[in-house]
Amino acid sequence: MLAAMSPSPSPVEPARIRAARGRDDACPGALRLHTADDGALARVRVPGGLLSSGQALVLADAATALGDGALETTSRGNVQLRGLPADAGAELGARLRAAGLLPSDTHDRVRNIVASPLAGLPGGGPDLRGWVRELDALLQSSEIARALSGRFLFALDDGTGDVAALDADVTLIAQPVGSALLRLGRSADAAPVADPVRAALAAAEAFVGLRSGTWRVCEADPDGALLAGRLGLEPRPLPVLPGTRPAVGAREGALCVGLRFGRATAEQWRLLAAQADELRVTPWRGVVLPGADPAALPALAAAGLRTDPGSAWERATACTGAPGCAKALADVRAEAAAALDATAGPAGRPVHWSGCERRCGHPVGDWVDVLATGDGYRISHQPGNATEVTNQQMAAAVAAARRTT
Ligand code: SF4
Repeated sequence: MLAAMSPSPSPVEPARIRAARGRDDACPGALRLHTADDGALARVRVPGGLLSSGQALVLADAATALGDGALETTSRGNVQLRGLPADAGAELGARLRAAGLLPSDTHDRVRNIVASPLAGLPGGGPDLRGWVRELDALLQSSEIARALSGRFLFALDDGTGDVAALDADVTLIAQPVGSALLRLGRSADAAPVADPVRAALAAAEAFVGLRSGTWRVCEADPDGALLAGRLGLEPRPLPVLPGTRPAVGAREGALCVGLRFGRATAEQWRLLAAQADELRVTPWRGVVLPGADPAALPALAAAGLRTDPGSAWERATACTGAPGCAKALADVRAEAAAALDATAGPAGRPVHWSGCERRCGHPVGDWVDVLATGDGYRISHQPGNATEVTNQQMAAAVAAARRTT
């Protein structure tokens, strides 16, 4: 079954659109920087997670020259730079434009497109790079799409169900012979569409006309029925999809490499870029390297990248926490990393550490919730089943909760 994340003002976003949102979605972009406790943060949209090795090097150079020397991948397959000076926007924008990473100032924040990272590779479905490029181009040419929130998400699934499980606003699921199913929000149904990418854009544009101060389809139209009616679609029950995401390690035709909590140093990032002509940033804090040599795995592991599918680090995520976020009650990443390093695999259920009740970046579906309380952590893995532990008790308690069925 499909399983059912203080901004400075944008220099480019028209006042007309800000007013139409009713309230600001506060989502950062490449031009609209977010002011965090560790400096300004820029989020670079990477449609489909697709980066050439040259583009990846541009990002690493920008992180070194302008930021804190590291890169973060997000739950939507985008890339963030942190620790930037408040006035870094102009130089960062120039670097990104020259590399083809900022093709539109006006549509920067709406280019949120995830795609199955193994599409077109052994074990994956059909190649979706054409869909990604077509949808990105159509989005940039749509005046209506400028009004989408920076949180609105398109998912392009190759039929395996991996990104279809990501709670996107508009999901395309590839079917045989070039057709597709279109799913709206969290609907349990999907409709066949003959021109998939144009249908996806039409759904997003229809949402702009439908919503009233909402950012996501699930807020305005929980079962997608209103949008389906406006679009003249006839949804039917979704087929069961495996929904399995690629584990880290070597597989036929690609290497899958994990980043600890989605963060890589510029040196690690350059090492990844040296392995393949194309990098595919996944929504699961990793990178797929098509055509990379499996003999590179030991060097990648020695550099601190994740390559062991049996590690407790698999399916482990954490919010930014202290010192980057003022709301955080703990340095959750450091404490979670220590807990994971102290735990022997296998990993068990997904787990997420949060520095406060907002739980930024938490997974969807079934997961173990580890919440900082100021005195330790509260661990929950079922409704009404919460355990308070000290920092010293946390690693063992999390490991036990992940093994609980
Ligand atoms: S969950 Fe709380 S502490 Fe963590 S990044 Fe979000 S707001 Fe900050």
